[in-house]
Amino acid sequence: MYKKILLILICFILTGCKDNTELVVSTNNFSKVIDPSKPVIALTFDDGPSKYTDDILSLLKENNAYATFFVVGNKVETYSSTINTMIKNGNEIGNHSYSHKWLSRLSTNSIKEEIELTQNVLKNIAGYTPTLIRPTYGAVNKKLRNSTDLKVILWDVDTKDWKIKSEEKIAERALNSIEDGDIVLMHDIYGRSYNALKIIIPALKEEGYQFVTVSELHELKEIKKKMKE
Ligand code: ZN
Repeated sequence: MYKKILLILICFILTGCKDNTELVVSTNNFSKVIDPSKPVIALTFDDGPSKYTDDILSLLKENNAYATFFVVGNKVETYSSTINTMIKNGNEIGNHSYSHKWLSRLSTNSIKEEIELTQNVLKNIAGYTPTLIRPTYGAVNKKLRNSTDLKVILWDVDTKDWKIKSEEKIAERALNSIEDGDIVLMHDIYGRSYNALKIIIPALKEEGYQFVTVSELHELKEIKKKMKE
């Protein structure tokens, strides 16, 4: 957290907060230079890790792209090396419950347990502490919000990769909907999502898009807001 603030401060001092100068944001001490004149999005992946996640991570890396993975805690130990690659490559990890129960329908104690178990396993396996949660089924209520200090993250664009079977149609839907500053919902548990991503990422790069994590997106929005003041 302090490192991030320091980086932003250094950036401000160096650039004098002028428009169209480079910005630096970071996740897991991994700094990225962002051109504020170009669009950004935050790709997010729910329900993994799975056997497809390593391929997605390689694709992201090849494209100098970063994403946020909302992981299910009971899969973390099995995919511990995948989790470590996520972190090493500068991606962000968020909490998506421990066993994918419908969080908003549980008691406060059960909600807390589902969240804590995932925080703990990530801490134990990778020394990582998420600051974000994506509620299962995108269902949020007061009880859920009051049960956690984690920031609740939904999405702007649902690629519907959980429902649409064709990778071309998933990509088409994504490319028709995505706008600057969007959070995009995908799942890293389907081969078709990986294949759709092979279409989506190059097409968006062609349009100048930069792929950042959810926390970096928030950071950038704050910096841009301050620049306008
Ligand atoms: Zn889910």
